[in-house]
Amino acid sequence: TAPVAAGDHFDGLRLRGVTKSFGGFTAVRDLDLDIPSGSFFALLGPSGCGKTTTLRMVAGLETPTSGSITLAGEDITTAKPYRRPVNTVFQSYALFPHLDIFENVAFGLRRRKRPEVERQVNEMLELVELTTQARKKPAQLSGGQQQRVALARALINEPQVLLLDEPLGALDLKLRRSMQIEIKRIQTEVGQTFVHVTHDQEEAMTMADTVAVMNGGLIEQMGSPSELYENPRSTFVANFLGQSNLIEGAVRERAADLVRVEMHGITVSIPAARAHADGDKGWVGIRPEKVLIGEEGEELDAPGNSVPGGVVSDVSFVGVSTQYLVRMPWGQELQVFAQNTGHRRLFRVGERVELSWRPEYSFLLDFSQDAS
Ligand code: ATP
Repeated sequence: TAPVAAGDHFDGLRLRGVTKSFGGFTAVRDLDLDIPSGSFFALLGPSGCGKTTTLRMVAGLETPTSGSITLAGEDITTAKPYRRPVNTVFQSYALFPHLDIFENVAFGLRRRKRPEVERQVNEMLELVELTTQARKKPAQLSGGQQQRVALARALINEPQVLLLDEPLGALDLKLRRSMQIEIKRIQTEVGQTFVHVTHDQEEAMTMADTVAVMNGGLIEQMGSPSELYENPRSTFVANFLGQSNLIEGAVRERAADLVRVEMHGITVSIPAARAHADGDKGWVGIRPEKVLIGEEGEELDAPGNSVPGGVVSDVSFVGVSTQYLVRMPWGQELQVFAQNTGHRRLFRVGERVELSWRPEYSFLLDFSQDAS
């Protein structure tokens, strides 16, 4: 952990060396995180990776075993939850059932005896598009509407940071999709910092401008959704964000920006993400939608890496695309998602095909990176 220099002011949320242990078990390990003010940040990871514990420490519901949390330069590591400019929206909306929607949203302002309650609540109801529902009780609203009330009730307190703990987990898929876009719109409008916890990679990528992928209490990789998707640095990230074909290979030649990698007797080119030595073993990664499929010997439109000798073992027509499994000579089945543009015919099970992809669409993962 780099020591923070005196006068080094960061106006966002900063975690430094944050560790949380429960008895002998470490749920979050030496976490360093800078979340800029006004950003939409997602903590993404499988169940048990420590994301909720991290969120709870920011909310003040857990105290770190070691490390510090600062917000706009102020140390809040041990501050009481209600003393922090932080609000949380949970999956269970926790609305007051006996109060109508207006009074639910007004609650925080009335308790703190704030002026102009009527105007502020109306503005907030407009923001979450519930103006016409103001006099209904929570039970009369749909799940998505109730979640928007919960959001309005938290935002009206003007927290510097809004924490969202799997807020859409209870909604069905279609509603979840539209709420993702809705919450993103609201965040852009209010401009506050949102920190969102989810195990759903699509949700994190849809909503957040920066995603931190957590695994076993550590951050595996952090970046924009497209950075993480196009340039995963570990097999965990490659597999957690979408699907990847990972083919074993060994580095044969290095050039300035491309490395030549041999995989099962076939040599392909891959962008050199960092220094690789001859003989280094690793995984060649390529996303299923980046692979072109054609008849063997056919000149495919994207020049580059060409891998012959595959045989189609499964075909699934899924509307926008056709998803193939292709068995390669070395026994591995690769996934290929072909867009159904109407320009190409479908291939059948048992047909011999050739796969190809542009070098820049593939990535190379060192074996050693997954050793930890
Ligand atoms: P989920 O999506 O399932 O909530 P998560 O990534 O949010 O998972 P956490 O809830 O942060 O994970 O939990 C991380 C680990 O810490 C888990 O193994 C969990 O069992 C453990 N843990 C969390 N809270 C406590 C606690 N109060 N006492 C003991 N262990 C805990």
